[in-house]
Amino acid sequence: MSALELQNLTRRFGPTTAVDEVSLKIAPGELISLLGPSGSGKSTVLRMIGGFETASAGRILIEGRDMTPLPPERRPTGMVFQSHALWPHMTVAGNIGFGLRLRRLNRDEIRRKVDEVLALVGLAGFGERSPAKLSGGQQQRVALARSLVLEPKVLLLDEPFASLDQHLREHLRDEVREIQRRLGITMIFVTHGQDEALAIADRIAVMRAGRLEQIGRPEQIYRRP
Ligand code: ADP
Ligand code: ADP
Repeated sequence: MSALELQNLTRRFGPTTAVDEVSLKIAPGELISLLGPSGSGKSTVLRMIGGFETASAGRILIEGRDMTPLPPERRPTGMVFQSHALWPHMTVAGNIGFGLRLRRLNRDEIRRKVDEVLALVGLAGFGERSPAKLSGGQQQRVALARSLVLEPKVLLLDEPFASLDQHLREHLRDEVREIQRRLGITMIFVTHGQDEALAIADRIAVMRAGRLEQIGRPEQIYRRP
């Protein structure tokens, strides 16, 4: 069964069709890059999968279950955005543990999971720090940890490192790939950078003007001359 399936997913804003009958199947543990120019509908696809935007038509299935009518908090998805929006008044551990507290895990379990995920993103020992005092790259690691700790079935990343310098962006991209392989988690990584998509993805889905124009493995999409 597919981890995620989109069936004719469509979103209209007035006269604009932002996403036009997009159909796609993603296997468990696969990392797909959604690649396309600005305005091609990538974010809208991602936000519909996460439940932050409603679909005008079509369906979203995760492990065969229809997610389309469910609010974000009832979907097994996590989302990481370009701007991380960490809570500045909480510690790093407080930020990461917040969702687990809502799920009523006890303090010891939360501490264990928070420590585990901090180590996974390379921030062991940073739990007591204030997010405001971290670098941009470290803040994005915290945002990633905050999503991963909830063990989503599908993790959605919307240009997560776009505001960082190129060197750091490449470094974090490789780390995400490594974490993704280690956990075997299904991911969709939105980018407008062809190099980034080529470097990270099992398959690349190319969007243009709301439509899914092409999908395939990196070497199928970009053949060497
Ligand atoms: P991308 O992520 O590829 O840059 P978007 O999904 O953000 O593309 O946008 C796709 C199209 O939908 C664009 O034409 C954009 O202007 C339009 N759009 C996105 N969100 C809204 C909205 N809330 N209201 C009106 N139009 C929107
Ligand atoms: P409080 O619960 O006192 O508001 P925080 O907001 O700092 O504390 O922490 C939120 C959760 O994260 C708590 O449930 C706690 O178990 C866990 N936690 C706190 N500090 C750490 C740390 N340094 N490492 C790992 N987990 C921590």
